Amino acid sequence: MSDQVPIILVKVARRDVRYQIWDVKCLKDGQRTFLKNLDSKGAITINRDDKGRTEVMVNGSRVMQVKNLLRSREIEYEVLTNDIFSTQYAMGMLPKRVRSPDSKRNRIQLPIGNSRVLDWTDFYPLPTIYNFLDELEKTFPSTCTVSIIGKTVEGLDIKLLKISNSNANNTGVWLDAATHAREWIGTSVVTFIANYIARKFSTLPEYITNKDWYFLPVVNPDGFQYSHLHDRMWRKNRACYGRTVTGVDLNRNFGYCWENTGAESAAIDPYSINYRGPSAFSEPETTAIKDIILYSGTPFKVFLTYHACSEVIAFPWCNTSDPCPDYVNLLEGGTTMAKAMYETNGRMYKVGNFKDIMYHACGTSIDWSYGTAHIPFSYLVELRSKQDRFLLPKGEILDCCKEALNGVIALMEFVDRKKCLNCTIITKALRQ
Ligand SMILES: [Zn+2]
Repeated sequence: MSDQVPIILVKVARRDVRYQIWDVKCLKDGQRTFLKNLDSKGAITINRDDKGRTEVMVNGSRVMQVKNLLRSREIEYEVLTNDIFSTQYAMGMLPKRVRSPDSKRNRIQLPIGNSRVLDWTDFYPLPTIYNFLDELEKTFPSTCTVSIIGKTVEGLDIKLLKISNSNANNTGVWLDAATHAREWIGTSVVTFIANYIARKFSTLPEYITNKDWYFLPVVNPDGFQYSHLHDRMWRKNRACYGRTVTGVDLNRNFGYCWENTGAESAAIDPYSINYRGPSAFSEPETTAIKDIILYSGTPFKVFLTYHACSEVIAFPWCNTSDPCPDYVNLLEGGTTMAKAMYETNGRMYKVGNFKDIMYHACGTSIDWSYGTAHIPFSYLVELRSKQDRFLLPKGEILDCCKEALNGVIALMEFVDRKKCLNCTIITKALRQ
């Protein structure tokens, strides 16, 4: 693909969500934990957490509430920017005066359709990602197939790329990203790996080519699009279960351990950042994944879901600290991945059971892929960066993609050497 293609831009009226940026000082015991708790509940978003300095983003409508909460804990803060649109902030634009949303001058330019090419030096909107998948299919028709596996609440396509030599003995590998809309680096990583495998397929080792590769770079197209256009910090999908669009946390909507009501990290309140939805698989995005994995007839051996930004490689369970039957294999496979990633750029990813190294969560995709779909090597990879959180600098995209690719390559070699205990290859008949 040539990079000479002109960039066609369309003017879109800005309807961004307004935020304040605060510098928060946690000087006493417990204050940092309190702040992190506010972040995990969605009351604030921690943008940077660098030694001695914590920069947070506070949604305009929550300013008074958060001020009161911080005061109640005697946490000092300073307002750095009074009123800024999240997408401006994400682009590093800190205007002296934020213009009115209705101003004619207050328009942002967005790329449309098939006008931009992916080169992993920037983050791209949904049409560019989808165009990239279609181009791969056109360029490599014998191995690449693009399919639409569902439609979102707002009517967008959920697009999947499969790369395979169609050998009947292949096992399946699943890679997805952007379950949480604002975690853009996952989409960069999944498209980067897809590009590498599609372009180099004929030269790759057997432990790569003996797999059917499934790439879903944007699990949550509505939310992803919304995070590009209106609210950089949007996490959920765009379903409406309240008076307004509340969204469902898609990584709490899978049908394994979904019914554990009241768990803080799988909320029953539609306005919570971790809202699990009205029922398991209530959302088109999670249903689409379930149907492909259970009914495509592919014996999946690996499930990789990419998130940001804690730099960890986590495996089941998310809902309990009890070791899963494949604990030792998963730990070893995760460590193999982490080692390859470390050797790429010197970046250290922590490995472990999700509940132990992250937090408690129900209805997650890896608990379902492991517990229900019996995919033995199920991992959630939290990519960069601990320091810049969801606003990863563009200059780090390529490094992050390269380390993730090397991690996947190392894992593929590893899984072919391992027998798995939970590896119930379910036949198509049994699944139906
Ligand atoms: Zn996430």
